[in-house]
Amino acid sequence: MTPPPDLAELARISAELGSDPMYIQGPGGNTSIKDGDVMWIKASGTNLADALRRDIFVPCDLPAMRDSVARGELRADQPQEFALQNGGLRPSIETSLHAVFPQRVVVHVHSVHTLVFAVQSDPVAAIGSRLDGFDWGIVPYAKPGAQLAAQVMDVVRQGANVIVLSNHGLIVAADTVAEADLLVRQVHDALKIDPISAENVGQSDLAEGWVAAPNSLSAVALDQQLTAMATGGSLYPDHVIFCGIGAEAHSLPLPTGETPPFYIIPGIGAAMRTDASAGAWSLAQCLGDVLTRMPKDAKLAYLTLAENAELLNWDAEKYRQALNA
Ligand SMILES: [Zn+2]
Repeated sequence: MTPPPDLAELARISAELGSDPMYIQGPGGNTSIKDGDVMWIKASGTNLADALRRDIFVPCDLPAMRDSVARGELRADQPQEFALQNGGLRPSIETSLHAVFPQRVVVHVHSVHTLVFAVQSDPVAAIGSRLDGFDWGIVPYAKPGAQLAAQVMDVVRQGANVIVLSNHGLIVAADTVAEADLLVRQVHDALKIDPISAENVGQSDLAEGWVAAPNSLSAVALDQQLTAMATGGSLYPDHVIFCGIGAEAHSLPLPTGETPPFYIIPGIGAAMRTDASAGAWSLAQCLGDVLTRMPKDAKLAYLTLAENAELLNWDAEKYRQALNA
C-alpha cells in the first residue's frame, strides 16, 4: 500500500511533538492522516518520538471503523480487525477516536497544559475564556477506545475541531498537517500556566535502590497542598498504566521490596526506584509538571476505583480485593 505524500510531513511533526514531554510522555498520544477510504495511524506500542527512525504508521479501513463506532459495536475496540496489512503492527487502540473526525489530519496529545485543566472537577469553569476563538468542546472521561470515540463524535458533529478529553488530554483536527500542528500548539499555548519553581529542590540521602525523581515531582513534595493532590488518586490513564494507581507518600527511610515506582517524601523531595521503567519516569515527571502548574484552589477529579481497575484489566476478584483493601 502506498501512503499519501504528506505522511512524511506527519511523521516529522509527530517526531517533534513526541520528543517534547510537555506534549507526549512515553508511548502516549497518536497522530493519523486519511487518504480516501484509508486512514494511516500510529501503531499500538510505538512511540511518536520514533516517527522519523522507523515506520510507525499502519493503514486501516476507515469506512468500516466509522461504521463500527456508529453502531456501538464491541469490535470497534479491536482495531487490528480493521488493519489493511496483515502480520505487521496493530493500529492504535485509539484508532476509533481518529476515525470520527471528518478532517484529514488528527493529532492527539497528552499536553501538560491541557491536563492541568482536564483533571479538574469543573474543567469548563477552569478553562474560562482561555479557548475563546477556537471551535472547542469537551467530553467526560471514558476509557480510551470506542466508548470515548462515540462521545467525541457527538462533539465533532457540533462543529468542534479542538476537543479536551477530561482526565486524559487533547485532540485536534485539521485538513493539512501544517494546520493541525499549528492548532495543537496554539491550544497548548492558550492553556499555559507558569509552574512554581522546581529548581534547587533539596535531595536527601536515599537508601540503595532509590534515586532522586524528576525535579518537578520533587517540588510537589515540598508543598503540602500539592502533595495532597498527588496522593488523592489517579488523574489520567497513562499514569495508571506506567506508575500504578495514584501516588504514595512515605517518610524516610523508604521501604525496599515490592513498592510503587516512586514515592513522594513530604517536605524533602521525591524518589524513583532505580529499576523504574522509562514510562514510569516519563509519567512521574508528567505528574510533577501538571501539579506544579495547578492553581492552589483547584478541585481535582480522580478516576474511580472501577476506572482504575478497567485500565489495569483487573479481573473481578482482584477488583473485589482492591475494594476491600
Ligand atoms: Zn490518549
